[in-house]
Amino acid sequence: MSTSQVSGQTLWDWCQAAQRQASCLEAASVVTHPEQASQVNLEEELAWLLQEVAGLDRLALYLGSFREKSAITLSLTLPELQQLWQQRIQARTPIQYLLGVAPWRQFRLKVSPAVLIPRPETECLIDLAVAAAEQSPSPVKFQAGLWADLGTGSGAIAIGLATAFPLATIHAVDSSPAALAVAEDNIQELDLATRIHLYQGVWLEPLTRLKGKLSGIVANPPYIPTGKLAQLQPEVSWHEPHLALDGGRDGLESLRAIIAAAPAYLRPGGVLLLEMMAGQAKSVRQLLQQEEYTQVKIYPDLAGIERFTLAYRPPESSL
Ligand code: GLN
Repeated sequence: MSTSQVSGQTLWDWCQAAQRQASCLEAASVVTHPEQASQVNLEEELAWLLQEVAGLDRLALYLGSFREKSAITLSLTLPELQQLWQQRIQARTPIQYLLGVAPWRQFRLKVSPAVLIPRPETECLIDLAVAAAEQSPSPVKFQAGLWADLGTGSGAIAIGLATAFPLATIHAVDSSPAALAVAEDNIQELDLATRIHLYQGVWLEPLTRLKGKLSGIVANPPYIPTGKLAQLQPEVSWHEPHLALDGGRDGLESLRAIIAAAPAYLRPGGVLLLEMMAGQAKSVRQLLQQEEYTQVKIYPDLAGIERFTLAYRPPESSL
């Protein structure tokens, strides 16, 4: 893509047309999967696109003040911009894949269709990990300990943990080499390569040498029942990696595998922190109660949906 210059009026006309297309799509799209916390807001997305390609801020867009400018520099040509917007509107490609970036917590993460776009609700997992560490009788054991992020995708959770716990080491696992390549880029970009180690494999399997040593295991595993994948909004079901979404027949297959394996990898008193789907809290609590965990807790996401579960391996004294 090559840079180009357009007049303010030309870009303004383009924006008007793009907005009309967006409102047609929004009016036509039926209510998406109720479980999905992130709903499409095309006006916001158009503003973000223009901010990225034309450096226009929200106020300039809102007031239309850029219309008076004789020349605006774009990072691509107008037909290329139009093509991107068509991919967004017609092919329903998520804007994050079109731009190759997703904002998440304080980071700007690289994303590709090899990884799930990190969701706002997943940001809470890091806050829960921080709170679990602070409330524990020995915070340093968590803050400077070894953590695992299972199914790291873009590396978001591992990066969030490494930043929240500057003395910790994070072991991040994914079964997809393409996802690991994206995570590696993000980790390099943020200068975290000495503190986040990447492994290719299934859940805890590559971490055998860390058995009994992990302070915390965090995961946002695939949890959508296979039969429900096709009902998700097209942005998700057509474009996001099913490997990161498909939780098997009942949606609980990955959660079950992680819950069963984690106690052997946690140090006594270590914490397991998982994201799950709306409606799964009861089953996940039962799964945890069948294994050796204590203090099982469920937490809501920002939309009030029961989304996270936290459980500890019992401390040494009670083993
Ligand atoms: N929350 C994601 C969605 O439905 C799913 C992520 C997952 O399966 N872990 O949009």
